[in-house]
Amino acid sequence: MPDRKSTPIDARTAIEQFQDYLAPQLDVYEQAVYLYVLRHTRLIGKPRLKVELKTVRHQIAKGLGKRGSRIGVATCLEKLRSLDAKGCISLSVNRDSAPTVRVFLPSEMPDLIESIDGECTADLETMDFFNDAANRRRVLKREAGRCFYCRRKLSDSNMSIDHVSRRPAGDNGYRNIVASCKRCNNRKGDSSAEDLLRVLFRESIVKADLLSDRLDALQMLRDGRLRP
Ligand SMILES: [Zn+2]
Repeated sequence: MPDRKSTPIDARTAIEQFQDYLAPQLDVYEQAVYLYVLRHTRLIGKPRLKVELKTVRHQIAKGLGKRGSRIGVATCLEKLRSLDAKGCISLSVNRDSAPTVRVFLPSEMPDLIESIDGECTADLETMDFFNDAANRRRVLKREAGRCFYCRRKLSDSNMSIDHVSRRPAGDNGYRNIVASCKRCNNRKGDSSAEDLLRVLFRESIVKADLLSDRLDALQMLRDGRLRP
């Protein structure tokens, strides 16, 4: 089941949006570091990257000065921190090991989106993605036609629209509505989305990488990064 191992991204759109919307907000080192971590995570379906600065700095960028020396370790780390502050990546730094990053696509950066699609954030926040058929199709498109939880391909006969948090706690907004297969929807019942994912993992329906990817996706959904 190779199609379940990773969440495919639309590379062409990601690169176009990077250049058109994100690059103008970044300095050249930030651009280089962002492209490096994007290439080694989302582009190949990996959720996270441990950035071994001493070795990877040789693969990221040459300096701008006359001598053009490689980007240094301290600069790499500084640029990772500034990318984190700008909401492009999520950086975890701990003393004993290399920093770890999760990378967001331009379309997942809330501040960029308005300029990309021109839609007012306030409108999106109040829209009903459960009852409105056109909005349900937008959710399905956001999920790339796959179940949000197990990433199975969805068809008319096996798809459903799921509240991540059950009503009345959860609403019909895009932060709480996903497309899922009927199997996942039924199995979830009253349990949390996290618990469903862990059950699917224990039953080897989702692999470790996908579990991590989907737990991240849930957080991104709730943070409003996954806009339909
Ligand atoms: Zn499913």
